Amino acid sequence: MTDKIAIVTGGSRGIGRAAALKLGAAGYTVVVNYAANAAAADGAVDAIAAQGGKAVAIRGDVAKEADILALFAAADKLGPLKVLVNNAGIMDRQSRLDEMSAGRLTRLFDINILGAFLCAREAVKRMSRKHGGSGGSIVNLGSAASVLGAPGLGVEYAASKGAMDVLTIGLGREVAAEGIRVNAVRPGIIDTEIHDSSGIPGRVKMMREHIPMKREGTADEVADAILWLCSDQSSYVTGSIIPVAGGRC
Ligand code: NAP
Repeated sequence: MTDKIAIVTGGSRGIGRAAALKLGAAGYTVVVNYAANAAAADGAVDAIAAQGGKAVAIRGDVAKEADILALFAAADKLGPLKVLVNNAGIMDRQSRLDEMSAGRLTRLFDINILGAFLCAREAVKRMSRKHGGSGGSIVNLGSAASVLGAPGLGVEYAASKGAMDVLTIGLGREVAAEGIRVNAVRPGIIDTEIHDSSGIPGRVKMMREHIPMKREGTADEVADAILWLCSDQSSYVTGSIIPVAGGRC
């Protein structure tokens, strides 16, 4: 197997899929993680193979530590880990905080924050020169919501992305001398299926007037920034958050 392994959590659809395809084309063996939709994950793997790349689909819920440990153990069998794209994330139905149950909050924070922290921990254990690794790149998925707050829509989602920003800055500095770069992309409104979870029909189109460029972004446009952050072309960039938001934040 090749010696460049990239794990993309939630790599089966949307932004994660686009990043997985670009990493596959760049020569990484890609581990396409997913939670439920095996057909979509197989589709991403097939698309990478059709480009001449290598990929495997591995199911695992990032809200469960045991699933994360199994995911990284499976990746270890393919070669040394060089890239983690901490992408898996959810939004919930449009809601005010005073309508949110504890169960809703726990589910979202478990996936969007706890999962990202545990995946980053496992990546550092493998990439850090302190632990015998040879370095690597971690890219976190933030959101314009961490700047805007998502009032009346999902303040808990915005807060989870605020935590991703702090993970990026803090961990970036913590492991900067160990060969690991930690950065984030901060997407605005990107045309993927995540917006269906809000329960607002046509949300992406509705948002166009609030975006300086007057259009939504594509998953490919975010994936280009992710690929750059994984590449040597960003070799002096760490602890940084790159907005990909058409000027919105
Ligand atoms: P998406 O189209 O809904 O895709 C989500 C992906 O995450 C799917 O592959 C899904 O797999 C996986 N996933 C969901 N829950 C998971 C779990 N518990 N464990 C493992 N995988 C899980 O979402 P997207 O729009 O591409 O968003 C990707 C990331 O970008 C998220 O972190 C999101 O918050 C962030 N983001 C998106 C936008 C936007 O406008 N789209 C803007 C800012 C930030 P299954 O299908 O198997 O569930």
